Amino acid sequence: MKILVINAGSSSLKYQFMDSETGEVFAKGLCERIGIDGRLTHKVPGREDVVREIAMPTHSEAIKSVLDIMVDPVYGVVASVDEIDAVGHRVLHGGMAFTESCVIDDACIAAIEKCIPLGPLHNPANLMGIRACQELMPTKKQVAVFDTAFHMTMPPKAYIYPIPYEYYEKDEVRRYGFHGTSHRYVSARALALLGRTENPEGTRIITCHLGNGSSMAAVKDGKCVDTSMGLGPLAGVPMGTRCGDIDATIVEYLMGIYGYDIKEMMTILNKKSGVLGISGVSSDFRDLSKAAAEGNKRAELALDKFIYEVRKVIGAYAAAMGGVDAIVFTAGVGENDFRLRKRVCEGLDFMGVKMDEKKNEGCRVEADVTGEGSRAKVFIIPTNEELMIAMDTAELAK
Ligand code: ADP
Repeated sequence: MKILVINAGSSSLKYQFMDSETGEVFAKGLCERIGIDGRLTHKVPGREDVVREIAMPTHSEAIKSVLDIMVDPVYGVVASVDEIDAVGHRVLHGGMAFTESCVIDDACIAAIEKCIPLGPLHNPANLMGIRACQELMPTKKQVAVFDTAFHMTMPPKAYIYPIPYEYYEKDEVRRYGFHGTSHRYVSARALALLGRTENPEGTRIITCHLGNGSSMAAVKDGKCVDTSMGLGPLAGVPMGTRCGDIDATIVEYLMGIYGYDIKEMMTILNKKSGVLGISGVSSDFRDLSKAAAEGNKRAELALDKFIYEVRKVIGAYAAAMGGVDAIVFTAGVGENDFRLRKRVCEGLDFMGVKMDEKKNEGCRVEADVTGEGSRAKVFIIPTNEELMIAMDTAELAK
């Protein structure tokens, strides 16, 4: 089926029009500056990119500009909107209500609305994208695919926080985890590479989604049993600008010294921390590696910290699952930074993980980079969240 995949943010919207069976991308692009002025960038493989300034006061005009360019006689890829079979939406937070993707109806929208306090930045934007598509394509099936859904198989001991239980019961405070669509996609690919798609029982996979935002997941029997992000995406390993796990005491301590209110404090933890915060150089791992190579000690420390924490989580998840059969690297850093992958794996020989450094070097495609004599496999698997969303959408829209 031909699926339009939408990822709506508060002032931007990414789209991809693709074949859910083959993964072929017919067109993709980005609407930016929604609510400010508006710019559309439209890309079709083999053609020059089209950039247009189009007024986008709301997400509705943004979606309209996408549909217009898709049917444009010169720049388009379809004769009419009828060729779009269904629309799939990335939705950040599904709370406890969604354990899998679902066809969007009034009940589904109400449930996504209920999750707004859990995803205050993203869920309202995701809903704007959904409503704009409903308005402009009222007859098309729309599907919501949640970033949290894959992690809903975690057992209580993994998702419960050690704070008064009433906050879980009354307020649904628990570990949810994010990047679920990515962890689901790459763990399913890893099962395929292990030849265990049909019989995943007994397999133990650790997926490392290392990008600007980073998260890790422990996947046992093909199901998520633990993940590093939490109630929100601020938890886990250090990230580009997010702090990851820290002692909550720091919050009170710094608010006391500097008189920050909670909003200022959260901005520091979300936007000024992570490897940017430690290095003072950049949140981008390419900049960090360059600075470290030039002798910048704080850039080196930021990389050391990141690698150390990723390796620690791998160890923790291997212990949690009673071993590991495959470690998967994915996302911007995991797919591209072979030196970092090598350094993450360096300390893991004790648990039978060996990497083939030759195969790893420079590799940016799906590959088995397991070293000789390794008990566990090491895979690089480029993530494809859009394909996963398109596949779910096609399945549910049938
Ligand atoms: P997001 O979390 O925004 O989806 P990505 O998964 O696209 O992020 O990852 C973006 C990050 O990937 C960038 O910040 C950059 O540090 C890193 N990255 C991309 N290419 C390389 C590369 N060749 N070497 C090292 N890091 C890279």
